[in-house]
Amino acid sequence: MSGSTWGEAEPASPVNAVERGSRTVLRRVLSEPVPIPQAGIERALEIIRSGRLFRYGEDTAGLSEAALFEQDFAAYIGRRHAIAVNSCGCSLFLALKASGAAAGDPILCNAFTLAPVPGAIVHAGCRAVMVDILDDLTIDLADLERKILASRARILLLSYMRGHFRDLDRLAELCRKHEVAVVEDCAHTLGASWNGRLVGTFGRVACFSSQTFKHINSGEGGVLVTDDPELAARITVMSGSYMFYGQNGTSPDEVAFAAVRDTTPNFSMRMTNVAAALLRPQLAELPRWTETWNRIYRRVEAGLARCDGVLPVPRADGEHYVGSSIQFTLDTDSPRVIEAFVRDASAHGVFVKWFGAGRSHGFTSRYDQWGYIPDVTPCPNADRVLARLLDMRLPLTLTDEDCDAIARVIGEAWTAVRAQ
Ligand SMILES: *Cc1c(COP(=O)(O)O)cnc(C)c1O
Repeated sequence: MSGSTWGEAEPASPVNAVERGSRTVLRRVLSEPVPIPQAGIERALEIIRSGRLFRYGEDTAGLSEAALFEQDFAAYIGRRHAIAVNSCGCSLFLALKASGAAAGDPILCNAFTLAPVPGAIVHAGCRAVMVDILDDLTIDLADLERKILASRARILLLSYMRGHFRDLDRLAELCRKHEVAVVEDCAHTLGASWNGRLVGTFGRVACFSSQTFKHINSGEGGVLVTDDPELAARITVMSGSYMFYGQNGTSPDEVAFAAVRDTTPNFSMRMTNVAAALLRPQLAELPRWTETWNRIYRRVEAGLARCDGVLPVPRADGEHYVGSSIQFTLDTDSPRVIEAFVRDASAHGVFVKWFGAGRSHGFTSRYDQWGYIPDVTPCPNADRVLARLLDMRLPLTLTDEDCDAIARVIGEAWTAVRAQ
């Protein structure tokens, strides 16, 4: 058995783990980015040589690469309109602004998310109202309803942080009942579905990322999808189309623009043609990548589950996730023990992130550490869950042997710190 969980063209798996005394040491970098297909590199070079990096112009023949990406992406998600932009964080800002969020408005947001999400709320001049989470890291619908009623917020910015979600039909129904528009943050759920329906089709608008550590990679990039032509028109002009909005790949008709073209500001948040060229062939790879990620995820998850006291975060029935990272907890409440565990695993080649640290560090931070969110209401379950939450990336190129070695490093680190 080759043990390779990657493509057929992969060479025989190299030795990526060694035994040192009684301990396993992984020799892999878990932050390895998603690979750019050769076709994307070649097309990007063509565009660079032509100098036509900017998507709009007076004399463009045919659709720009960014417009073609919009067509591909809208077709992939199954929504009418896609608007390509410069980052997911900016796409969240555009989604809020285009949905009518005004200065001082409350915006509901689940407490487990990444800093660009509250950042987008602040960018739009709004006020974040944090909603508590369940033990499986998904939004708590009972707390959501309480917070809707207490805040009278009209928009929920729903972040599928680390790709966790459940009960999306119930969530959509609850928000419909209370006339709350849902903006989906799909930075970790491109390719995921709930009971057979793609994530990113449950809200009024959905936002995706193509930053290097997400599911498709153009360094920086984001894309919004919606079925609402007026919203699409506003987002297009806001993203910086000038009056070239007809050059977008999935533009609504002129009627939708008539109402917005002269009253909508330009925020200059466009995607370049180079980024779009890198992304287009990746979309075609996504189903295969999703399968690979999930095979890796299940193998690591099974390995962790075999370690006594190491608890992978449970996943809901009906949740077809994309396992590009894994979250777990240890059977301890001691921050000192968790800190020692993180140090030990890291010393043995497995870089683990911890959400319970006293200060934000690297990419990792908690809602109560965002000092720019005033009057944040505590979310007691998020506090309890995040204090113990550990997190690892799972790059696409991990072999079965790598997955088993990762689980061994985790198990051995836990055994070592538990014994102290
Ligand atoms: C990465 C990420 C974002 C922001 O994406 P960028 O493209 O880096 O701006 C937003 N939400 C979540 C959950 C993310 O992981």
